[in-house]
Amino acid sequence: MDQPVLKLTSISKRLKGKDIVSDVNLSVYPSEIFGFLGANGAGKTTTIRIIAGLVKPDRGQVTICGFPLDRDFNRAMSNVGCIIESPDLYRFLTGMENLQQLAAMDSRVTRRRIDEVVEMVGLQHRINDRVDTYSLGMKQRLGIAQAIMSRPKLLILDEPTNGLDPAGIAEFRQLIRRLAYEEGMAVFVSSHILAEVQQMCDTVAIISRGRVMATIKVQEIGSDLIVEWQLDKPALAIALLRDRWDITAEQTKKNTVRAAVEQVMVEDINEVFISEGIRLAYCGSHGSTLEDLFLNLTEGDEIV
Ligand code: ATP
Repeated sequence: MDQPVLKLTSISKRLKGKDIVSDVNLSVYPSEIFGFLGANGAGKTTTIRIIAGLVKPDRGQVTICGFPLDRDFNRAMSNVGCIIESPDLYRFLTGMENLQQLAAMDSRVTRRRIDEVVEMVGLQHRINDRVDTYSLGMKQRLGIAQAIMSRPKLLILDEPTNGLDPAGIAEFRQLIRRLAYEEGMAVFVSSHILAEVQQMCDTVAIISRGRVMATIKVQEIGSDLIVEWQLDKPALAIALLRDRWDITAEQTKKNTVRAAVEQVMVEDINEVFISEGIRLAYCGSHGSTLEDLFLNLTEGDEIV
């Protein structure tokens, strides 16, 4: 597998005596759209501010394209384009003038690249109009154009569709997919909207009260059940699942093992566990739509 574009290792942050982000680990790869899904106040913006170097973590490491953010800030950040909260735009200048202002500060950006990004975000017909005549969706697209001008390997977006109408959201989703697949960019995008994340992202990390509860490939969501066993020999259960059924299971608590399993197999698995001397205290399951997973993992954090 490629080197991750973004890697967080054991990131934690306390603010005013409260754990805001706790032991967050994740990796984002080239061309991957990685969703960071959590309810209001779950810790998404704080994590994003840590990744963008705006907040210093108390513990842990952020690495961007192999460069540790704390020791090699400039080289790490030269690979990042981001929009945090809303894009920084001069309202009384045209879209093009906004882009030129920024390009003047970055020797990597040519006139040709400016035209290319304008076309990519679909603003060619309005780029010479003043920004204060733009709709919210157009401002968002201009913000993306700014963020991608220098061909960053990682694009970071904090709740980018807030305030967009459904058509704007659909356009935005297509744009992000094109950037990831055509330009090979990794996109890290936070959201509290389940359906949006499911439609836009390849991978989703569910965050609740500052902790990543699970990281899920969207493609794998759907058909299997998520089964949880409480038993006395978790290591043996995990090994049996792997060796007999090629199922990857994880130990979630001291005596708890969880795996995605086809419904018809659960009975067989339980029989084998018992015949191998495992004492089974509990076996429960729930569906594996993103909503099921979210509600189960976050114990009902409110989300749209
Ligand atoms: P939202 O979707 O509402 O923006 P979020 O997931 O982005 O939520 P954060 O903004 O990261 O969440 O906030 C997480 C928690 O940290 C919240 O409870 C917030 O009140 C708290 N918090 C954020 N910044 C500070 C700070 N500077 N001092 C104290 N607490 C803070």
